[in-house]
Amino acid sequence: MARYKESVCRLCRREGQKLFLKGDRCYSDKCAIDRRQYAPGQHGQGRKKLSEYGLQLREKQKARRYYGVLERQFRNYFAKADRQKGITGENLLVLLERRLDNVVYRLGLASSRPEARQLVRHGHFTVNGQKVNIPSYQVRIGDEIEVKEKSKGSPKFKEIAEAAAHKNPPAWLELDAENLKGRVIAMPTREDIDVNIEEHLIVELYSK
Ligand code: SF4
Repeated sequence: MARYKESVCRLCRREGQKLFLKGDRCYSDKCAIDRRQYAPGQHGQGRKKLSEYGLQLREKQKARRYYGVLERQFRNYFAKADRQKGITGENLLVLLERRLDNVVYRLGLASSRPEARQLVRHGHFTVNGQKVNIPSYQVRIGDEIEVKEKSKGSPKFKEIAEAAAHKNPPAWLELDAENLKGRVIAMPTREDIDVNIEEHLIVELYSK
């Protein structure tokens, strides 16, 4: 599958805000957006005011980049959100939050979403005791997400367990940091989703 291969910090600079794609570095003074607060590229420092369409497009790109989702997959999420009852924009964010890679990140079992996606792909996680290596897997209430027994002893996961012990997962998730596992105790609501996205702009973009 096609993936973005350049520096991910460029994505944050393009969106003008932190997307937290590099783990601990994002919270340090090495964060690129703290040092260069303008868009990348030759014309990065001379951008004009965005049109309505431009604003909608940027919001969609930002959401895609937060969650590491490609265009076609994002459109599929939107179509599904639109078919569901309730507010389409909120449904969209809930579907994105329920991705397994996002849940692993939210639990603190990875330092960023890109790292979570890679760990899931490499088969380090189980859901309800079964190996799941699909980052887009949609979690449900009651699902138990756990690092595979064989992986728990690795230096990487020992480090993650130490870091996770100091993290507070969102209210819809429960974490057992010592045993490197978590549980989905509720569906996320918009209030639980602390991403700086104006989802109504995405709905407007796709409703044209
Ligand atoms: Fe974005 Fe993190 Fe890079 Fe900062 S360090 S620009 S938040 S990916």
